[in-house]
Amino acid sequence: LRGLMMDSPLLVTMALRHAALYHADTEIVSRTTEGPIHRYTYADAWARAQKLAHALVKLGLQPGDRVGTLAWNGYRHLEAYYAISGSGMVCHTINPRLFPEQIAYIINHAQDQVLFTDLTFLPLLEGLASHLTGVRVIVVMTDAAHMPASSLPNLRCYEDLIADEPSVFDWPELDENTACSMCYTSGTTGNPKGVLYSHRSSVLHALSACLPDVFDLSASDVVLPVVPMFHVNAWGIPYAAPMVGAKLVFPGPKLDGASLHELFVSEGVTNTAGVPTVWLALLNWLDANKKTLGTLRRVAIGGSACPPVMIQRFKDFGVQVLHAWGMTETSPLGLANTPKAKHGGLDDEAALTLASKQGRPICGVEFRVVDGNGADVPRDGKSFGRLLVRGAWVCSAYFGLEGSAAHEVVPGWFETGDVVTMDADGYVQIVDRTKDVIKSGGEWISSIDLENIAVGHPAVQEAAAVAIPDEKWGERPLLVVVLKEGASLTKDELLAVFDGKVAKWCIPNDVRFVESLPHTATGKLLKSSIRDMVTVKSAS
Ligand code: ADP
Repeated sequence: LRGLMMDSPLLVTMALRHAALYHADTEIVSRTTEGPIHRYTYADAWARAQKLAHALVKLGLQPGDRVGTLAWNGYRHLEAYYAISGSGMVCHTINPRLFPEQIAYIINHAQDQVLFTDLTFLPLLEGLASHLTGVRVIVVMTDAAHMPASSLPNLRCYEDLIADEPSVFDWPELDENTACSMCYTSGTTGNPKGVLYSHRSSVLHALSACLPDVFDLSASDVVLPVVPMFHVNAWGIPYAAPMVGAKLVFPGPKLDGASLHELFVSEGVTNTAGVPTVWLALLNWLDANKKTLGTLRRVAIGGSACPPVMIQRFKDFGVQVLHAWGMTETSPLGLANTPKAKHGGLDDEAALTLASKQGRPICGVEFRVVDGNGADVPRDGKSFGRLLVRGAWVCSAYFGLEGSAAHEVVPGWFETGDVVTMDADGYVQIVDRTKDVIKSGGEWISSIDLENIAVGHPAVQEAAAVAIPDEKWGERPLLVVVLKEGASLTKDELLAVFDGKVAKWCIPNDVRFVESLPHTATGKLLKSSIRDMVTVKSAS
């Protein structure tokens, strides 16, 4: 027996249409690439998205065609999100921090026909132009006054492109499973792989992002996504914020502590989200300049493990950290960490230990933790195994690789590549990426645990724990450390902080002090390079 409810497809356009109708005067504020702060409303964004949709049709784009964007978080990028996806094309966001060869690879692999770019990335595209096989038009997201001279053929100015178009567009009635947007994984091993989100998956993911135990978004919030719109759709915020009518603040290209702080305070930001490296810089800037975080009440942190000391530092400013876990393949939200009612009586230390876990499953994504044979390990918070996921916003196959399922260990489940524990309440703690775990004498040592302890030392800015080959034990942990500016610390002083915090055999063998550590295009420690760096040094 089928239900007798309307068959209304879940399309991302519903988010901005809703905001334009019922939150028409709610603001979207952007720091622009050109410099000044730009302000307009949801009603303006919706009208301009429709103008852009007309322009896309005029460019000869057909349903299903891929349109690339190379852009910061800003209002024109938001318009592109909605215009491209809403008119049945695929909004392919490109991470400009990838290596140029990788960028060329993914533009060609996705067969992008049109690219939208911020002024910042024009030189990058000029360098790549001869390698781009299918790009017909490049639209520079600026106005005529700022259009630069460029060697690129077929360059168009965004504002000119939409100027004479009507502000009402007859959006096609798409099937909700139509492809909506696309993002390539960072490809730290092998070529990047394309994850193709659907309208349905994006809407369901964004609705769940608003939940109190996730980003906790409402019409009384002001949300500033630091997470880039060029990677995994800024964790769904460009869809989630209009769904609830939250004011949006886009930081544009300036993600340093001073610039973020200025927007947090001047715009009354309540919620934000980003990776730990951004917050480290902001927290250090706040300390150095004796500033606080104004109205900010919640910061979502994910992408890499958020060290307990970071959760504590935000708490000291009256800001709750929401530790979250996700992957490009999971849209990305999968786990989010808030306490339950029964945790009300926890003392500070126990509460911090709990908050440092990666979180509990968000309804809509199912999780399993299995051993090498695919059998579930006990949910006791101690037994570890491989994390598998499935759900309405989890990738089933990569773009162009449809024949080969994205899952391996257990059919129908996506293998995340993370080794984790899960407790009876569903809280998951990541031990490590499978490839980063340190295997010492048959036991596993969590590099994340060691890093969290190291960065708890006040002199340490950043730390990476990597495996070095060892004749007796197979592998042993080595700590590679960047000290805070002006701080000094010896190896023994640092290793002393591990006493009593981990088993003796987990304590790193050695410490290397370095000037800086390499990161991936999404801000994670680039473990493969760090391993190479120390192995070369050890050998020489
Ligand atoms: P990228 O973010 O570069 O696209 P992925 O999507 O592959 O790369 O990154 C997903 C991985 O990031 C996860 O499998 C996990 O290892 C790591 N990750 C994400 N969030 C967290 C977190 N909160 N703590 C620890 N690791 C995390």
